[in-house]
Amino acid sequence: MQQTPTSPTLITPDASIANATHGGRAKCLQRLVRLELPVPRTVALPFDMVHRIAAGQMPDMKGLLQHFDAQPLLCVRPSSEDPDWGGPGAVLNVGMNDALFADLCDRIGEEAATAVYIRFVQGYSINVARLDPDLFDDLVVEGREGLRQVLAAYQEETEEPFPQDPGVQLAGVLRSMARAWEGTTARLLRQAKGAPADAGLGLVVQEMALGLGKGVCGSGVIQLVSSATGRPKITGRYRSQSQGREALKKEGSSIYLARDPRGSSLEDLAPEAFADLIRYTRLMRKRLKAEMQTEFTIENGRVHVLDGVRVRRSSRAAVRIAVALANDGIITPEEAILRVEPRAVTEMLHRQVDPEAPRHVIAKGIAASPGAASGRIVFTSAAAQAAAARDESCVLIRRETTPEDIRGMHASAAVLTERGGITSHAAVIARGLGLPCVVGASELKFNLRRNTVTTADGQTLKEGDVITIDGTNGEVILGSAPLHEAAHDGAFQQLMAWADEFRDIGVRANADTPADALIARKFEAQGIGLCRTEHMFFEPGRLTVMREMIFAAEAEDRRAALDQLLPMQRADFVELFRIMQGHPVCIRLLDPPLHEFLPTNRDGMRSLAEALDRPMSDVTRRIEELAEHNPMLGLRGVRLGINMPEIYDMQARAIFEAVLEASREGASVVPEIMIPLVSAKREVELVKSRVEAVAAEVRTASNQRFDYRLGVMVETPRAALRAGEIAPHVSFLSFGTNDLTQMTYGLSRDDAGRFMKTYVQEGVFAEDPFHTLDVDGVGELLQTGAERGRDARKDLVLSICGEHGGNPESIAFCRQAGFDYVSCSPFRVPVARLAAAQLAVKDIFPPKM
Ligand code: PEP
Ligand code: MG
Repeated sequence: MQQTPTSPTLITPDASIANATHGGRAKCLQRLVRLELPVPRTVALPFDMVHRIAAGQMPDMKGLLQHFDAQPLLCVRPSSEDPDWGGPGAVLNVGMNDALFADLCDRIGEEAATAVYIRFVQGYSINVARLDPDLFDDLVVEGREGLRQVLAAYQEETEEPFPQDPGVQLAGVLRSMARAWEGTTARLLRQAKGAPADAGLGLVVQEMALGLGKGVCGSGVIQLVSSATGRPKITGRYRSQSQGREALKKEGSSIYLARDPRGSSLEDLAPEAFADLIRYTRLMRKRLKAEMQTEFTIENGRVHVLDGVRVRRSSRAAVRIAVALANDGIITPEEAILRVEPRAVTEMLHRQVDPEAPRHVIAKGIAASPGAASGRIVFTSAAAQAAAARDESCVLIRRETTPEDIRGMHASAAVLTERGGITSHAAVIARGLGLPCVVGASELKFNLRRNTVTTADGQTLKEGDVITIDGTNGEVILGSAPLHEAAHDGAFQQLMAWADEFRDIGVRANADTPADALIARKFEAQGIGLCRTEHMFFEPGRLTVMREMIFAAEAEDRRAALDQLLPMQRADFVELFRIMQGHPVCIRLLDPPLHEFLPTNRDGMRSLAEALDRPMSDVTRRIEELAEHNPMLGLRGVRLGINMPEIYDMQARAIFEAVLEASREGASVVPEIMIPLVSAKREVELVKSRVEAVAAEVRTASNQRFDYRLGVMVETPRAALRAGEIAPHVSFLSFGTNDLTQMTYGLSRDDAGRFMKTYVQEGVFAEDPFHTLDVDGVGELLQTGAERGRDARKDLVLSICGEHGGNPESIAFCRQAGFDYVSCSPFRVPVARLAAAQLAVKDIFPPKM
C-alpha cells in the first residue's frame, strides 16, 4: 500500500505525486515536467503536511529551501484535488529581501526591483501578518521612497522589522494559506461545489521566472480554443514586464497573442516564443488529453511554463471540445461521453441569457423550464394570443396557469407564475413546449385587477413593459437581456450518436401534440411514453363540445357529444402516429377532474350558457355540482372512466380507428393505452373489458386486425403495493411519479412551492421531491411495484413518465431497478440519452482505483 506522503517532494518525472495526495495542480505540473516542458523547479507539499501546517506544526524549512537557490525567489500556489474547489490565492515573490533587492536592481533595474519588493511587502502584511489593508492607503507606493515607507509601516505596526529570512517568509506564507483553507467560509464554499468536508489542500512552491527585466520579459496565458464556443481560436493575453496573471487585468497594456489588426501581438514581438507556446499547448492537449490553458512567463525571450489548467468552457464549448478530442483520436468516444455534464446539454438546446452581460434581476422563483426569452408583459391568454397575432413577443404572467391557458402559453415566449412548484401545470406544460418558465415567484405582488406586478423593492410593472425570463436560473430580469442562441450543431449530434451506442435503457418523450411529437423525433426519442389526451380538448371548437358532454345529464346525451369529439380525437392520433413513424405511442385516457374544462369566471359562464342555449343558472348549478373539496383526489382518472365509461369508449375507438388509418399509409402501429390513477385491480378489469369490447367492434366493423397493449399508470401508493395483482391484467406499468410523490408525501404538487424553500433550507427535505426523485420513500414504492409486477408477469414493461424521468439521478435509479425506459419532456430527451449512456459507460469501464 502507498504510504501517506508527509514530506515535500521535488517534482521530477519519477517522483511519487498523486492527485489524491498532492492535488491536481501538483500532478499536472509533474505531467508537464514529464513532457520536458520548461517548468521552473517546483516542490509539492502533500495534503497531510499542509493540514499539520494549519495546526501550527511547521516542516523543516531548511530542508524545503534546499531544493532552491541560496537566494531564492518563490511563488506558492494552492493544489486542491479538484481545481473547481478553489483555494487561497497564489503568493508571488516570496524570498524578496534587502539582499535580493540589491541583486535584482542590477539584473532587472531599480524601478522593477522596487515594484516587486513593494508588492511583496504589501501582500505579506495583509495576507500573512494580517495587517489592516488601510495601512498603506496614504503612503507613496512607488520608488525607493515608497519602499522605505511600506517597510517602515510594517515595522511600526508589528514592532518588528520586515523578515529578511526567506525561510521565515515562506513559513508565514505556507501557514496563512493552510489556515485559509481550513476556515469555515472556505469549507462551506467548496462543499457547495461538491467537495467532501475533509477535502485536503496541497501547496506547490515554485521558483519564480521573472517576467521583468531586460530583453523580452512578461507573462500571460494562452489557450487554443474559445471558451465560449469551443472552436479553435488562439485566445489569451500577454503583458510585457508583468508577473502572475496581470496580463488578464482589463486596465494596462496587455497585447494580443496571435497577430491581430486591432493591435500589437506577441507573435510580432517575439515570434519564436510565440511558436514555442503554441507547440507546448498543443503538446499538452495531446498528452494530457484536454484543452489546456497555459500560464507562462517570458524571461529575456525564453518561455517558462508555470502552470496548465483545463480551459474554462461553456456547455456548448464542452461538447465541441470533447467531440474534437475524440475525433482527433486523443480520447475515446466513451471518454467524450463522460466529459459532458448531462444537464449542460439542456442549456445548449435553448437560448440563454449571456452570462457575461449585466442583468437587473427583479425577482427570483423556481427555475421550472430552461432557456431565456424576452417580451412584453401580458396578463391573460387572450392578450398573449393578440400579441402573437401582431407578431410581438410576450411573457405571460399568471398567478398560476390552468388548462385554459394552454393556447396563451403557446402564443407566449415565456411564462411567469406567482404560485406553483416544479410539477405545477405551468411548469409541466412549459417544459413540454420548450418555453422558458419561472414559477413560484412569490416575492412579486400581483394585482390582477389593475394588471400590474410589484417587485420586492417597490417597482411596479404594467402590461406592455418588457422583461426577460431566465428559466435556467429562475430569474426575472428587467428589460431585454442579451441572449445566446441555441446550439444544436454537428458536435452535439455526434456526441448523442455515440451516447446511443452505449445506452442500455430506453428514452421516450412525453408529448401531447403534433408539435411536441416533432420535437421528440428531432431529439430522437424512441417513442412517446405519455400522451396526455386532455390537452386535445382545449383546442378551438372542441371545448364547447366537451362542455356539452360534461353538461349531459344522461349517458345517451353524453354519447351524442362524444360522437362529435370522436373524429377530432381520431385525427389527433392519426397525426401522432404518422409523426412517430411506427415508434410506440402510449396514450393516456382522460385524467383530470371535469371541472377543469369549465369556465371559472362570470363572462366565461355567460358565453357557455349562450353556446349551450341554456339558462345561466343551469351552468352555475352544474359547476357547483362538479366542484370538489380535493379535486386531485376526487373524480378523476380511472374513476371518471368507471363513472362515465362512454368517455373512455370514445377514446379507445378513436385510437383503434386511427391505428387502422395510419397503418394503411405507412409503418404499422401498435398503440399503448394507459389507464391513469389506478388504485385497485377491479378498476383495471372494468376498463379492460370495455376496451376489449371496443376493439372487437372496430375489428368486426373494419374487418381488419390490429394489436394494442393496455397498461396502468402507477400514481397511487396502493397501485404500487398491489402491482402483483394488477400486473397479470396488463402488459406495462408506467410510474407517474408526479402524483405518486404527491400522494406518498400527502403534499400538494400545486401548493408545495410556497413552502418548499423553507423545507429544503431547514433540511426537512434534502431536495424538492417533485424535482429530484425521493429514492428512499417514493423510490421504495417504485422498487416494490416493479418487483411485485415482474414477479407476477415476467415480460411486464416498466417505465417512469413523471417529470423525474429526465433527471440523471432518477435514470440511475430506474436503470438499477430494471426499468425498460424513461419518458420525459421532449427537450430533456438529449439529457436523458447522455445521462443513461454515462451510466452504461461507467459500468463497462469502472473508474480505476
Ligand atoms: C404523473 O402524475 O407523474 C404524471 C405523469 O401525470 P400528470 O403529471 O399528468 O398528473
Ligand atoms: Mg398524474
